This record gives sequence, structure tokens and C-alpha cells, in this order.
Amino acid sequence: MSLKSSWKDECGVFGIWNHAEAARLTYLGLYAIQHRGQESAGIVSLENGVHHIHKELGLVADIFKESDLAPLKGSSAIGHVRYSTTGSNLIVNAQPLTSNLLSGPVAVAHNGNIINAAELRNVLQSEGSIFQGTNDTEILLHMLARNPSNNLRIALRDSLPRLEGAYSLVILAHDRLIAARDPLGFRPLVLGQIKTGNEVSYVVASETCAFDLIGADFIREIEPGEILDISAKEIISEKIVLKAPAKKKSAHCVFEHVYFARPDSVVFGRSVYGSRKKMGEQLALESAQEADVVIPVPDSGVPAAIGYSQKSGIPFEFGIIRNHYVGRTFIQPGQSVRDFGVKVKLNPQPEVLKGKKVIVIDDSLVRGTTSQKIINLIRQAGAKEVHLRIASPPTIGPCYYGVNTPQKSQLIASHQSIEDIRKFIGADTLAYLSEKGMWTAMQAGPETFCAACFNGDYPTSLNGVENKKSC
Ligand code: AMP
Repeated sequence: MSLKSSWKDECGVFGIWNHAEAARLTYLGLYAIQHRGQESAGIVSLENGVHHIHKELGLVADIFKESDLAPLKGSSAIGHVRYSTTGSNLIVNAQPLTSNLLSGPVAVAHNGNIINAAELRNVLQSEGSIFQGTNDTEILLHMLARNPSNNLRIALRDSLPRLEGAYSLVILAHDRLIAARDPLGFRPLVLGQIKTGNEVSYVVASETCAFDLIGADFIREIEPGEILDISAKEIISEKIVLKAPAKKKSAHCVFEHVYFARPDSVVFGRSVYGSRKKMGEQLALESAQEADVVIPVPDSGVPAAIGYSQKSGIPFEFGIIRNHYVGRTFIQPGQSVRDFGVKVKLNPQPEVLKGKKVIVIDDSLVRGTTSQKIINLIRQAGAKEVHLRIASPPTIGPCYYGVNTPQKSQLIASHQSIEDIRKFIGADTLAYLSEKGMWTAMQAGPETFCAACFNGDYPTSLNGVENKKSC
């Protein structure tokens, strides 16, 4: 859970085919995946071959009023929530992006980050493409526009192998809904269905928690490298054919399980809650500490703290209470209110902490500044000892696949020892989960996951993207 407004999240996508309340269900779907992006949201619906669109900067609940949803007529729709990883926070970058191709209107919602975006953009611009915004998704629209085929799936078959990096896409054309996932399957994308009598509606979403809300049944994941084409006539699945083979079978983002995804989602076939709890249990095995109480940094540290507490037998308490109603902006007080930035969101309870030896669990430690402030507040609340336990390995590398971490120089563990970090944050002891322990908890390994932020092993070429400011 971040306290810093400068921190970036990623995006969430949703799509539904053949449902009388397509836009409304898309609205609910976006509501469920709001945690994946809070900068902008949008819905495009399809009615008799025509697109209707509404998108704005802000939160789903603020953007869509009854009067905005009513005009989004039709039986199919796609939606997007965004927190920019490339391109700035401008309405022109808000998704779904729409365009009129020779074959008809097309709308694209994208989660992920295209590594070779700058290179492709240069090529397309030198060939005459005019770009509206600065995000990497627009590149795909230009590639589709130039493709001679009026069959969108064939145009995607030609275009997608040129993209390097992460993409989970939901695309709405005048006659079909297409879902596609990059060959390494970095970001999640799942397929579900709603049965109403003899009618079947298909649903695609970043996370299964969106299905739970709208009463859809999970069918399966969209496979890494799959293009799934859903139309009134048929459903066709095909594989993206790469020129050179990928470095590994898949590169699912382990950070989805550590921090990003909602704990009530099943991501890459595993319960996120289950993974986080197991990470906490493993952490207790690896770095035991005598203490009176285990507390989470809410909300991100909660499942791991439960796991740690159950494994160690040390009681779990809510030692820090989170205010869930903190918006993105608030009027800052003057210097007179100390630690306001943290306290507005997290308030330590002396009732739980006074005179106690406390183990604090968080999911990750990145710059260290949040932990430093939290530890300071816990001490002010009267704790005798503060032991920080991090339920993931040290974050040493930026993500170039859709999670916007700071530059390497700002990742404290990339250049400081654990002892130096401990001193900086002011904890009595500090320990991280080992990489091996993370894989034990995940019941998986680096052959099928990407953990570049923890081990520096990037599963694609980086095309110089590591020299740019951020992804
Ligand atoms: P820091 O002060 O930089 O060490 O921040 C650590 C906190 O940020 C932890 O509570 C994490 O849950 C949270 N966090 C980790 N990664 C991200 C991210 N990519 N975006 C937002 N918050 C994050």
C-alpha cells in the first residue's frame, strides 16, 4: 500500500460480449478492478456496429453517472482503468483508445508495457503516422490501420509479433470482441461466462474478482500468446507466432501476487490470498523473532501477517488502523502537524503497541521511506521494540513490464546492505523473505515467472529502455 502519490500502479481491462446490460456490467467490472488504476477510466459499447464512448480522468464511481451509462447502449462493451506507466496523465491517453479503420471502428484497452514502443513509434511516424497521445497502446492502432486485411484477427496476427514486452489486450471492433495476451503472459487476463437461459455472454477481465461481482463463472485464463476472437458466428483461438522463440515458457509477474492483485482474485491459477499467507508463513520460518505481537501494514501486509502469526504462534493484532476514505488530494496542513502524510492514512494504536515487542509485516520495501515513517509512529505509540519483516525479497530492479517502480538508484536495496537499510528505517531488526522462500510459497519458480524486480533477470531484451527515466 503506497503512501506516495508519485508512485505508479498499472492498469486493468474488462470486456463483455452479448449481454443486454453490457455497459453496466463493464462499469461494475471496472469498479472491482479499480485498485489496478485510479487515474482515468473509460467504457466503449457496441450497438449495431457503432461505438459509444465515455472516458474521463478520475475514479470509476465519480466518472460514470446514470446519465453517462444510459447512452452506452448495445450488447457488448470494453472498459479500462489506468494508472500511467508510459505517457502522462492526460485525457488523450485515457483508454479505451478508439479509431476508425477501413474495416470499421475499433477500441483498444491495454494492460502492460511495450518495451520497444519508442522504436516502433519512430518507424510509424517516419512513415507518416500522426500520434494523438504519448502512450504505447496507440502504436497498435496505427499498426492495425496500416494492415491490408479487413479481418481484425488477421491484422493482429501480423502486428502483435512486432510488439515486445507485456500486453493483456481487450479489443472491440464493429462485429467482434478480441482478447489477446503477450507470449510470456506477464499480466493476468481471464475468460468467464454468464449463462442466461440459452444465451451465453462471454467476459474477459484482468482479475477474477471482477467475475465474482457480476456473477460470471470463470472458464480459463487467456493463454500466453493467445488471440481469442469472439463474434456472433464463432469463437476462434489462435497463437501468436514469434520470429524468434521466447526466452522461456511464460513470465508471469510475481509482483501481482506480492502486491498488485486483489487478494480475493485467482491469478495465474493461484489464489493471491493463499500466496501472500504462505509468504508470511515462510517468512516466519526463515526469520523467527521473539515478540509479543504481529501487526500488518494495512492493507498490503495483512495476509502475510496472518501467515506469520499462525506459523510463529505470536498473536496477530491490528496495531495500525487505516483510513479507507483518503482520496488522492487533500489540503495539506502547515508544518505544525508532524508526519501528516502518513498519519492521514495510517494511525498506530497505543492500546496494542504500548510496551510491546512488535513484529511489523509489509509486502515489500522499495525506497524505505514509508517504513521509516511507520516505524517512527509505532515507536511514538510506545512500542518497546520494532522488528520489520518484508514478505518478499529485496527490490533491486525497476519493472519494464507495466509496474512503475522508481529508477534503480531509488531502490534502496539496489545499493545498500540490509544492515544499512535497517539503520535508515530505524528498526531493531529487519529481514526479507528469501527468493527461494518466495518460490516455495508460490509453489512455482523462475522458469514460469518473472521476478526481475527481485533478481534482475529480465525475460526479454530491454532495447535500451533501462536508460530511460521510468517505464
Ligand atoms: P517504500 O517507502 O518506497 O519502501 O514503500 C513501500 C510501500 O509501498 C509498501 O507498503 C508497498 O506495499 C508499497 N508498494 C510497493 N510497490 C508499489 C507500487 N509499485 N506502487 C505503489 N505502492 C507500492
